[in-house]
Amino acid sequence: MKTTVIAPAKINLFLDITARRPDGYHEISGVMQSISLCDTVTIEVTEPTGMYLCSLGNHTAGAKSITLTCTNPDLPTDSRNLAWRAAEKFFSATGRGCKNLLIHIEKRIPAAAGMAGGSTDAAAVLTGLNDLFGHPLTPAALCEVGLTLGADVPFCIMGGAQITEGIGEALTPITPMPACELVVACGGEGVSTPAAYKALDTLYGDFDPAAYTPRTRELATLKSALWQGDLTALCGSMFNLFESVVLPHRSVARQIKETLLSAGAVTAMMSGSGPSVFGVFPKGDGSAEKAREALTALGIPAWVCEPVR
Ligand code: ATP
Repeated sequence: MKTTVIAPAKINLFLDITARRPDGYHEISGVMQSISLCDTVTIEVTEPTGMYLCSLGNHTAGAKSITLTCTNPDLPTDSRNLAWRAAEKFFSATGRGCKNLLIHIEKRIPAAAGMAGGSTDAAAVLTGLNDLFGHPLTPAALCEVGLTLGADVPFCIMGGAQITEGIGEALTPITPMPACELVVACGGEGVSTPAAYKALDTLYGDFDPAAYTPRTRELATLKSALWQGDLTALCGSMFNLFESVVLPHRSVARQIKETLLSAGAVTAMMSGSGPSVFGVFPKGDGSAEKAREALTALGIPAWVCEPVR
């Protein structure tokens, strides 16, 4: 059994923090959007077990062997890879198994860039295995398994545009971005998400309500811009709290932002904990491609893509 799954990257249109929980996790309030920049994940299963009721109880859950290959040589190809861990979680949640599991990741999303590159591969493995094994898990159950791998995995399973609350797992679908082109660019070293959260805690007094007021009104404005399909209003209300702690230390990210804006972006903002930056461009006037060329001329990898539903 074999399947190929498209694993889209995400950008954050809005990302604020409402509280720091006693367990150290942060409550977020935001909006995420899937984009057409994607990895392709191919999953091949040989000699599946536990597929039918009559064979239940007569097999061991899990894959006897897992082989993972990836076109990005910098990423681990063992159990440190989120895609590998997703397969193990799927098998233990469903009691299914197989002799050999082959996972191949055609990697296009830059790693540790704030675009959920690992989470989307994990989501692709969960949905791909669920398809191959005849949907033993409902979408809600898949998201529950996904959340044990990372806060962004449930979003990557559902995709499109979603309001994200809680630690990122509470999702409410919202109207996706209106038609536009996006230029995503990433240069310099990756950002460690836990380190970025720590810097935010220091800057905003651990998000004590006396020290920090979440931007509730701004989020309401952004949501209504999405409902109305108003690209200009949407761009005017985008926000990412991580910019305040990451951009001061990332000259390449600042350079990307400036280049995108001077090439005609309606707005440009860092995605997630960075350091990737995206610019929003009108569709079809060639300005996005020109911005990509300007970034490439500076030696910064950049991609033209668009929001996906
Ligand atoms: P997020 O936006 O969800 O915070 P990110 O885009 O900042 O995530 P990832 O690309 O998911 O970060 O990578 C974070 C770390 O996860 C990297 O250091 C990488 O080694 C590890 N990792 C494990 N599996 C993968 C994978 N399949 N793809 C990318 N990174 C992976």
